[in-house]
Amino acid sequence: MKRVALITGASRGIGRGIALELARIGFDLVVNYAGNQTAALQTVGDCREVARAEGRKISAESCQADVGQAADRRRLLEFAKEKFGRLDLLVNNAGITSIGRADILEATEENFDRLMAVNLKGPYFLTQQAAKWMIEQAAARRSSANENDAGAADPEPFRPKIITISSISAYAVSTNRGDYCLAKAALGMLTKLYAVRLAEYGINVYEICPGIVASDMTAGVKEKYDKLIADGLTPIRRWGVPEDVGKAVAAIAQDALPFSTGEVINVDGGFHLRRL
Ligand code: NAP
Repeated sequence: MKRVALITGASRGIGRGIALELARIGFDLVVNYAGNQTAALQTVGDCREVARAEGRKISAESCQADVGQAADRRRLLEFAKEKFGRLDLLVNNAGITSIGRADILEATEENFDRLMAVNLKGPYFLTQQAAKWMIEQAAARRSSANENDAGAADPEPFRPKIITISSISAYAVSTNRGDYCLAKAALGMLTKLYAVRLAEYGINVYEICPGIVASDMTAGVKEKYDKLIADGLTPIRRWGVPEDVGKAVAAIAQDALPFSTGEVINVDGGFHLRRL
């Protein structure tokens, strides 16, 4: 049976990098996007191609949905149910940067609300709905295993997982992106809350904390970070690439951390290390 992953915001950037790495290891994929259908279709095609190069055949489907809207979140999960009938991995990746990057003394409530809807409320409630579905799937598998062969070990145990992409902005202060920092800090608690709540169902929950990663989101501040990185901002002196995050997700997806939950995985070139 093929495993299925749903990645939010997978048309471009880090989400696309995650989709490609999951395709490489044979996951079927739901590639969610907000508005850029061309990029989403490109990612879907590239995922199939990457899998083929590994000698695998995967199914990948794109689905437009704004994770900041409740009706869209429901539709996204319905899409995954209809197309694949199962979910092994949810990756909450979709996110936007602070709208207008205004100083916190000037930032507006309207922009705050929009960012919170996409970056925090979206993953919080998508996780809730996906987790309920994962719990149902686990129960259904248990009851069919009981009916079919009492006592036999499941050859392919169902070990669903949830991964949320936060950021070094969860703890590093940027006074022109207050809402972004707040949302990313809260995702740490989201991970801990669901890790505790879902452990009894065998669902492990993780937070991945990327550093400075080359994508459309950071394109506008490239020169600033080029200089900071060259000056030693990160012990590993290079930009992160989406593939770096994808590889961390793929490791978790392959059950590399079975006795860890609520854990933060830093993918940041060592940015988080305090130095003297
Ligand atoms: P990006 O290049 O701007 O790509 C954003 C992706 O999210 C796109 O696929 C976009 O879809 C999708 N998206 C945006 N709003 C959405 C919505 N309301 N509903 C569904 N999808 C939506 O961003 P990125 O740099 O890859 O960032 C991805 C995640 O990593 C974000 O959560 C970000 O905060 C986090 N992160 C980024 C960095 C970094 O340095 N880049 C560092 C740490 C954390 P469309 O293509 O349709 O617009």
